[in-house]
Amino acid sequence: MQRARGLELTTTHTIIGVDIGATTIAAGLVTREGEVLHAVQRPTHRDGTGTALAALLTLAREMVADARARRLAVDGVGIGVAGVVDTGKGAMQPHPYNNLPELGHVSLSDEVRQATGLPVFVENDANALALAEWIFGVGRGAHSLVLMAIGTSIGGGIILGNGLFRGANGSAGEFHGIPIDFDGRLCFCGGRGCLGAYVEGRAIVGEARERLAGGAPSSLPAMSGGDAARLTPELVFQAAAAGDPLAKSIVDGVCIALGAGIAFIVNALNPQVIVVTGGVARSLVPLAEEIRRCARPHTLATAAVDTTQIHVIGGDKRHTVRGGAAVVVYETARVASRVI
Ligand SMILES: [Zn+2]
Repeated sequence: MQRARGLELTTTHTIIGVDIGATTIAAGLVTREGEVLHAVQRPTHRDGTGTALAALLTLAREMVADARARRLAVDGVGIGVAGVVDTGKGAMQPHPYNNLPELGHVSLSDEVRQATGLPVFVENDANALALAEWIFGVGRGAHSLVLMAIGTSIGGGIILGNGLFRGANGSAGEFHGIPIDFDGRLCFCGGRGCLGAYVEGRAIVGEARERLAGGAPSSLPAMSGGDAARLTPELVFQAAAAGDPLAKSIVDGVCIALGAGIAFIVNALNPQVIVVTGGVARSLVPLAEEIRRCARPHTLATAAVDTTQIHVIGGDKRHTVRGGAAVVVYETARVASRVI
């Protein structure tokens, strides 16, 4: 590398992006333009129940060492975590459905700052993904963007008026509970007819298991080796695409429910861009037009759903580390300008 007066002429500036999920922690070195240079994944609880914080700190230290070995500068650490976040404290708010209860009272920003010596920002994981699509991805330049992340559960993030909208208590964008059927399925949350009870990965699998246990004919038992525990949302979508009537009926229900959920968002916010991503979204990519068709009858201004850019993007863990990086870009710009 060329040097001038002992100083390197160019140094690539990176951010450590972290995505903490209930089963996997992903971390990566991401450029300020959103390119993922390197990413790794670890089980959140590899060393047993309650070890998520230790796993996070170990991974953060590894990423700093990795950046040093690659001669990359690191500007900060951005963490997306599945839960409602108190961004001032850099901690998750305790919540009855929290999948990571041991992190409920911990300032992740303080812990990671002490472990790495770097500035640290913590945000809800779906808010982080919304920022990533807005800053680096399909929503660049949009004045409004709503992201729905569908995996085992649903998360959401809202960009309005050129800033992240967190709501009064930080829980804006929690789309699980959008009521789509008052007489519908009972949901694990205690509600009935929640959007999440139809489109979340656990709901898709749960519905398939229930119908199979009721004796419905299907190719799904053969596809899962006769073991209902091995059923996945992907298998249900594959079976539906191959014409299996039971699977097709479940997937039709997913499209109808998701269409209603998207119509709710269009009616409430009329955003310029909607992004559907997450693990289940990989299977939804070929169904994007069907979902739009299901949304159309529910929007008051029928043109609104047709003028909304709807992107269905299959998410993976390498992709999600960009969320943490976007949080650092957003927060440092916000502090610098004090206008957002
Ligand atoms: Zn629910």
